[in-house]
Amino acid sequence: MSAIDTLPPLRDVIATHGLSARKSLGQNFLLDLNLTAKIARQAGDLTACDVLEIGPGPGGLTRGLLSEGARHVLCIEKDSRCLPALAEIADAYPGRLTVIEGDALEIDPLEHLTPPIRVAANLPYNVGTELLVRWLTPPDWPPFWQSLTLMFQREVAERIVAEPGSKTYGRLAILAQWRADARIVMQLPPGAFTPPPKVSSSVVHLTALPEPRFPADPAVLSRVVAAAFNQRRKMLRASLKGVAPDIEDRLIAAGIKPTDRAEQVPLEGFCALARELAAT
Ligand code: SAM
Repeated sequence: MSAIDTLPPLRDVIATHGLSARKSLGQNFLLDLNLTAKIARQAGDLTACDVLEIGPGPGGLTRGLLSEGARHVLCIEKDSRCLPALAEIADAYPGRLTVIEGDALEIDPLEHLTPPIRVAANLPYNVGTELLVRWLTPPDWPPFWQSLTLMFQREVAERIVAEPGSKTYGRLAILAQWRADARIVMQLPPGAFTPPPKVSSSVVHLTALPEPRFPADPAVLSRVVAAAFNQRRKMLRASLKGVAPDIEDRLIAAGIKPTDRAEQVPLEGFCALARELAAT
């Protein structure tokens, strides 16, 4: 009998520990262990990795990560009601699960992790996007993580993998695709969760590239992209006026038409513009 077979079904765990879902914590739980194991498999080979899981809740994905062979899982969970359920999982997998109670936005998990590190999470939308942006913009590259396997509402997932020319293409796509490969690897209907959310969800898998796809200074790139997409309907010569007085010349030097709008410019173009602006 494997360790996972000694643990009760997640519905029983929720009943035993009184884990009624709280909207304020974005709690939509995954209770199907076949599904959570499938999500864990999207994270790649875990056997030689530490996995950082944010928001384990009753531990469905945690069980998936452990049953798929993760060397060690470090969980950060804000809801103290979940800790006894997670302690049962830690007992079933001795020495392989550490749980920290707290807010993932405030805890630095790195001192508890040994590389190589992968990240996996099914998080509330607002926390997930904020953490993703932080993970994509560390002070140095490559980052602490090899890959991120994250559940988002479908609309956010589409913004992460968006291509130029699409309505969803913007800052998130550029941040994600500049230094990582980003793919949607699973789609989940609302009914996969308890309680079901209003919208469908997608799992996005991001793999860190050893180096950025195109050279650019991160701060300059970030400033230009933010300015360009803040006024995405305007032509770049207008939306970027505040970035440099001679922006039309700079755009042309970077191979971009000043009359283009932000969503028409590929990642390579924004990087060329950032280099052009950093040159003086
Ligand atoms: N991973 C579980 C699953 O798939 O069933 C739970 C997912 S539920 C969508 C989100 C989880 O994140 C909840 O357990 C919630 O308590 C937790 N959470 C919400 N905000 C958090 C934060 N700032 N830091 C850590 N955990 C948080």
